[in-house]
Order: sequence, then C-alpha cells, then structure tokens
Amino acid sequence: MLTEKLMQMLEARKDEIIQIRRHLHENPEVSFQEVETAKYIADFYAGKDVKIDKEIAGKHGLVVTIKGGKPGKTIGLRADFDALPLQEETGLPFASKNPGVMHACGHDGHTAYLMVLADCLIQLKDELPGTVKIIHQNAEEMAPGGAKDIVASGVLDDMDYVFGIHFLPNGPAGVVGWHKGYTFTGRSYMKLKITGAGGHGSSPHLANDAIVAGAYFVTQAQTVISRRLRPFDIGVITIGSFDGKGQFNIIKESVELEGDIRCMSDGAQEIVQRELTNLVKGLEAGFGVTCEFTYNNDYPPLYNDPELTDRVVKILEAAQEHDADIKEVKEFPPQAPSEDFSYYNTICPGCYFFIASTPKGQDKPVYNHNPKFDIDEDALLVAAKAVGYVLTGIAAQE
Ligand code: MN
Repeated sequence: MLTEKLMQMLEARKDEIIQIRRHLHENPEVSFQEVETAKYIADFYAGKDVKIDKEIAGKHGLVVTIKGGKPGKTIGLRADFDALPLQEETGLPFASKNPGVMHACGHDGHTAYLMVLADCLIQLKDELPGTVKIIHQNAEEMAPGGAKDIVASGVLDDMDYVFGIHFLPNGPAGVVGWHKGYTFTGRSYMKLKITGAGGHGSSPHLANDAIVAGAYFVTQAQTVISRRLRPFDIGVITIGSFDGKGQFNIIKESVELEGDIRCMSDGAQEIVQRELTNLVKGLEAGFGVTCEFTYNNDYPPLYNDPELTDRVVKILEAAQEHDADIKEVKEFPPQAPSEDFSYYNTICPGCYFFIASTPKGQDKPVYNHNPKFDIDEDALLVAAKAVGYVLTGIAAQE
C-alpha cells in the first residue's frame, strides 16, 4: 500500500528532515531576497525525474510537478520558506548566521518536511494516483506575498485541492490541529496623509489643524469596528504610526498615519475599507484638510473548505488509531494573524491545518515572530506524516 510505504520511508528519513531544517534555520533570508534558499531547494530536486518550474512569476518560488502513474486528481502541497528581520536569541547551535535575520515562524521546518515528503513521493510515483504539485513559496511574510504570484502564474488552474500546515506552539509534538471556515484573518494596510494649513498656536481659526484631524481619525476609526461591523463579524484596526512631532505652539500643517487592519471575513474587509474611506471624506469636509488615502487589502482571510476539512479530520483520526507519531487530532481556535495561503483557497478548495510544536520543557509558549521562537523537531516528522496521510487519503477517495 502506498500510504504504508510512504510512512516507512518518512520514518527512515526523520534525521534528514531535521538536518535540512537546521541548514535552512542557519541560513535565513528575508522575503523576496531568498536567493540562496531557492537555490538550495532547486539543487535538492536537480536530477530527479520531475518537472521543476523555477522563478515563478519572476520571483524565487518554485513548483515541482510529480505525475503519478495512476489516474486521479491534481493536489497541491505548499510550504513557505522566507524568514523575518529579527535578531535571533535562541542560543541554538544552529542559530542564524545572518545578522538580523531569523526563521522565527517555522518556515524552515515547513520547507524541510515538504522537501523530504516530495522526494518520497517522487520515488513512489508509479503507485501515486493523480498529480501532486509541490509549491515551495517565497515571501509569505511581506505583502504582496509570494502566493499571489504563484496563483497568477496559473499553477493552480488545474488544481482540485490544496493543502498546507503551520507549526504553532499550541501543544506538544504529536498534536494535529484543524479549524473549519475562516481560520486566519485577512490583512489590510492603510496610509493617510492629512494636509491642512499651519499657523500660530493662539489662532486656530486661521489654520486647519492636521493633528486634530488625525486624532479624530484615530478615535473615529474604532467606531467602524463597534458601530459598522455586524456583531458576528470580527475586525481590528490598529493605527501603529502617527508622525505628530512638531513645536508646542505651532499648528502642524501635515501628518501621516499608518495602520494595520485585520478582518475575519471577506464581508468585514469590504465594510472596513468602505467606512474608513467615508471617514476620510468626512475629515476633508469637517476640518478643511486634504487627504491622500492609500488602502491595500494585502491578504484575504483564510477560509478552510468545511467539507474538505471534515474529510481531512477523518483521515487524520484514522491515522491516529495506528500511528504512534500522531497522538491527538483536535480543533484549534482561529488565528488572529494573517497567512497568504488564503490566496490559494480563493481559487481552489483547500485546508490549511496546524502541527503543534511546543519545544519540550517550555512551560510558557514562545509564539511565532519572537526572537526566542523554536520548534520541537519531533514535530517535523508529524508534519510530513500528517500531510502524507491527507494527500494519499484524499487521492485514494477520488
Ligand atoms: Mn508563518
């Protein structure tokens, strides 16, 4: 049986997955600059009997197409490989050699497990139903993200299902988490430049105060969440930057604000954009200022296909019955951050699920994007096996 052979091969290559993860961890590159990482991945596949598409849409993403020997669906498996602009503080022997850059979101592990899983599938491809497209995606962390380019390249046009995982310190290695429907927030970016007319602090009637208009915007923006979203929708607006520095007795002519918006449904994303745009128009009318407003919906919310997720859960629960590496399969809460896997799900039913990876002995979880973030390397094999079970399970059902 294909699944049993695959699991035996993965178990035999556990140490290799760990070594690849450590190599990637030691040599991190930030989004859109992953030159060496892309080369390392491409070199791994060089000479293997598969189709390799490099430099997807001019960037560093690469797609490996494994044509199975039996008829079936086309299924995508995606792992991201970019790192973050952070100075690592883990003290690990294989800590980052690149100052100010760190794999602090586990993408090193995502890529390591998928490379070895892909290689096993290449060796087993005569028995494989359908086609598997291995998507090694660059630039998950920085808008516009690598996923958008991969979707634009047409790689997913003939795809029936797409799967991916994320490591999270939400439990010990062996726990696999899932969530149906909206699972990660969508992310938007805004910039607002307000230009009024400066003047003497004693004479506001002769000026148009940009700071007061900006302050009004900051507080009014919160009423979009409390008064304009339905109570069932989730949205967050954070104005993280407001360059108000000036002189105490001079009315400031212009200010610039930047903000981060997260929404847990496509509808909420539209409402927030519309209402903030209206609010900006109101500033112009009310404060006599002019506004330049930039608003980008960088990543859509991530929506896991409910029916497909049910099938994934059943497959994983069946695996848990006999595979000691998969200890528990359970529902995880939705996640406040955003994830550009969401782009794949906008055109192809998909399921993005979780591999628990809290390092042994860590009492308080150190979350992703922290300079002390690490994973339990036992979770690497769990990821490879879980995705392997899902792939072969779904492929066999079709
Ligand atoms: Mn991530």
